Amino acid sequence: MSETSRQIPVAKPVLDDREVEAVRRVVLSGWVTQGPEVAAFENEFADFVGSAHACAVSNCTTALHLALACVGVGAGDEVITVSHTFIATANAIRYCGALPVFVDIEASGYNVDPELIETAITPRTKAILCVHQLGMPCDLRRIVKIGKRYSIPVIEDAACAAGSEILWEGQWQRIGKPHGDIACFSFHPRKVLTTGDGGMLTTASDEYDRKFRLWRQHGMSVPDTVRHGAKQVIYEAYPELGYNYRMTDLQAAIGREQLKRLPALVDRRRALAEKYSEHLSGTSGLRTPSEPHWARSNWQSYCVALPSRLDQREVMQTMLDRGISTRRGVMNIHLEEAYAGADTHRLSGSLGRSVAAQERSVILPLYAQMTDDDVALVAEELLSIPTIAAPTTAPPSGASYLPHSG
Ligand SMILES: *Cc1c(COP(=O)(O)O)cnc(C)c1O
Repeated sequence: MSETSRQIPVAKPVLDDREVEAVRRVVLSGWVTQGPEVAAFENEFADFVGSAHACAVSNCTTALHLALACVGVGAGDEVITVSHTFIATANAIRYCGALPVFVDIEASGYNVDPELIETAITPRTKAILCVHQLGMPCDLRRIVKIGKRYSIPVIEDAACAAGSEILWEGQWQRIGKPHGDIACFSFHPRKVLTTGDGGMLTTASDEYDRKFRLWRQHGMSVPDTVRHGAKQVIYEAYPELGYNYRMTDLQAAIGREQLKRLPALVDRRRALAEKYSEHLSGTSGLRTPSEPHWARSNWQSYCVALPSRLDQREVMQTMLDRGISTRRGVMNIHLEEAYAGADTHRLSGSLGRSVAAQERSVILPLYAQMTDDDVALVAEELLSIPTIAAPTTAPPSGASYLPHSG
């Protein structure tokens, strides 16, 4: 019988006095919205990923919206992406009046199958929006090649991938350099680096970066920081429709502290993921996540696929009863009511793998403060669910294979 007091959450941000001090400094400075801290965070983030530009925004959803608009996605256009992702990926396409075209994921993980992208291209395809799901880099080398061949811009939904790396022309490079045309990051607390809410766009293009900066602040020709510091009266103009997608200096100050921690956080997460794999690999049909030789995940999530004889909800409830929180794996957008209408999306081929992945996968707890013993304990509890620990050749009958008594 497990202790009832134990509580292992699925995730936990790493925040302490360093972030508190950073916010204190900003509050007392009197400048709390987008200003010098945002500018400093952008420079530091650009350096970190090796990008020419980084533009901070309010979250990754707004980053995706600006990225798509920037490459010219508009009404009636199509954007190829996956359904097997967080809903924001496709919502951003719809904000542009365009149609998400969903392709399936690969057999071996939770990322897009690059093979299927090419079959989904039509004369209306305006962009490819690929996702580094759960922090695991997707096969950008193949995707970028397809984009180049058809002259279609590639945008990376790198929401989960701050600190992830890809082997590129023989060198390990951070996601966000970017390898596509634009990469979009999230700093939501469920991601590895958090600012509460927040986002970042990285690009090598001066022109794109200029547009992001214009559009995130109402399309205002002169940023308020410039007017504030000016010795002469300046009237601003509004040449284009813009948005209020700003990050605040309060958030950016937290982000700067978080960025300093990021390499250590990723190292710790890698070690924890390795521990999980040691405990769980080779066990009776549980599929553990693995990195292709050309990818290094930041392990934003550690997601296992259950053998088909186990009921996902029952496994998760059993774990919860034992004080361990888990989450269902990645959702499928096309199965949500908001995407029920024929005008909301188009399917390109079967999404069988996406649907199976949602039904079978469970995200296990992973956060930097976890101990090796915590990981061992989660693994032990998972393996103690009888048919995981000792697979039967015949499928078990009914639902009696899960212990309900504890
Ligand atoms: C979290 C997430 C988003 C949305 O990020 P926000 O910063 O919350 O807007 C988009 N795409 C993916 C894949 C995500 O995981």
